[in-house]
Amino acid sequence: MPAPRSLAALEADIARDLAITAHPRAPWLKPKTAGGLPVLDCLVVGGGQGGLAVAFALKRDRVERLLVIDSAPEGQEGPWVTYARMHTLRSPKDQTGPDLRTPSLTYQAWHEALYGEEGFARLGYIPKELWNDYLLWFRRVTGIPVRNGVTAGRITPTLTDDGLPCLAIETSAGPMLARKVVLATGQDGGGRNWMPPFVEALPPPLRAHAWDAIDFDALKGKVVAVLGAGASAFDNAAVALERGAGEVHLFCRREIVMDVQPYRWLTFAGFLRHLGDMPDAWRWRFMQKILTMREGFTQETYDRANRFPNFLMHMGRPWSGARVGADGRVAIETPRGPFTADYLICGTGVRMDATARPELAACAANIATWADRYTPPEEEASERLGEFPYLAPDFAFTERRAGETPWIRDLHFFGFGSQLSFGPAGSSINAMAIAAPRCAAGVTRGLFAADMPRLFDELCAYDIKQVALDPGKLAAE
Ligand SMILES: Cc1cc2nc3c(=O)[nH]c(=O)nc-3n(C[C@H](O)[C@H](O)[C@H](O)COP(=O)(O)OP(=O)(O)OC[C@H]3O[C@@H](n4cnc5c(N)ncnc54)[C@H](O)[C@@H]3O)c2cc1C
Repeated sequence: MPAPRSLAALEADIARDLAITAHPRAPWLKPKTAGGLPVLDCLVVGGGQGGLAVAFALKRDRVERLLVIDSAPEGQEGPWVTYARMHTLRSPKDQTGPDLRTPSLTYQAWHEALYGEEGFARLGYIPKELWNDYLLWFRRVTGIPVRNGVTAGRITPTLTDDGLPCLAIETSAGPMLARKVVLATGQDGGGRNWMPPFVEALPPPLRAHAWDAIDFDALKGKVVAVLGAGASAFDNAAVALERGAGEVHLFCRREIVMDVQPYRWLTFAGFLRHLGDMPDAWRWRFMQKILTMREGFTQETYDRANRFPNFLMHMGRPWSGARVGADGRVAIETPRGPFTADYLICGTGVRMDATARPELAACAANIATWADRYTPPEEEASERLGEFPYLAPDFAFTERRAGETPWIRDLHFFGFGSQLSFGPAGSSINAMAIAAPRCAAGVTRGLFAADMPRLFDELCAYDIKQVALDPGKLAAE
């Protein structure tokens, strides 16, 4: 089949595709109030790709009182046009994503409608700005309601006026109420961007995390030291070099840099669909291996930094301390002697820590982690991974001490931190078509369970006749 010749033609196809696959069409949830105020069926916090994908799945299942909120202004959700410093996505261009396998909603369909089939065939990797444009288009054509510039804060339990559990959410736009909340709050949504404490203790003008806003022009002529050898470390090194840094030195603990991408290996249906169903020992074993290998980088990412003569890699040379010298420069301690730099960038990812998230302030102490639930064999032990939340099969948080915060069963967590429980989920485009419907089904399962008494009454009262009987044929006994 040829691709549609224009975006208008594609959008007509989408309207038709969504209409003819809208089954089951019957509305099934009823409006609720709490204290006389309207209650959403579901609030999705985070309008990045993960939040949009879950919201799309919920909308398709007729979760009608649905809202997505995002702190960022429209068009700046997620990393793509802010702190993502690569040129292109690292995912292959033909993966499905938030489209949830609706052909006309895929990135490919959008790209071909704009730039032709030839244009897509010529494309290597997807430029990150185009991916961002696609996500904005996706949200418009699917009609997902998003309010930008709204930040969610503390979430606490309350009841609807008819006595069902619901959640009260403090937001920068005033209080909101929802029966379910999906937290699709990104890489640091389960904790915070992490750097070694001795780097964090340095004055902010001397150091940054790779995902911070960085004034690279101010690094012209300076010696920049980057910690980590993942993709973001290389991206930051490359930008510093392109903007005229005097020298860029990349340090990592490993003796040999990671030259494979474990997320490529795991991109098959068995793993993406079923890891979450497996015993803890296997879930831990696979994800411990993958998350310890960490995100690999592409040839393009490497070449972009490596083409500069003033770029050097220091393998097997971790940092063990750092302090500001009398000259205002930073002396970094390493096992191979000190190193002096003007500015430090840490490509060191995130640490899970529910206490760091304002949304979780009322329950953080009672969110069960993997360390609470599973003790791995010594050779697989990891303090960092033990901090990941131990999620229920429906992506909800589970309680450390049963009964103290039972309402967290209505808080579903879709992001990087859900990886240890399910493998890549919100955190990765490759998993989205499988993981987002699963998270959405967790939400609808809970809504259905809570509504069963009302639904049973409706069944008993159901009187839409589909047959008109002939009274003349009914024998009078
Ligand atoms: C630099 C970089 C490059 C990446 N490249 C790839 C890639 O090529 N391929 C791939 O598969 N994956 C990639 N990833 C991993 C992953 O796909 C991205 O992190 C992606 O953005 C995850 O989507 P998300 O919706 O979970 O989170 P995000 O896109 O980060 O969206 C989360 C949103 O939540 C909002 N938010 C957070 N807290 C609140 C709050 N309290 N209230 C309101 N809004 C809130 C934020 O403003 C943000 O817009 C990359 C990640 C990074 C950081």
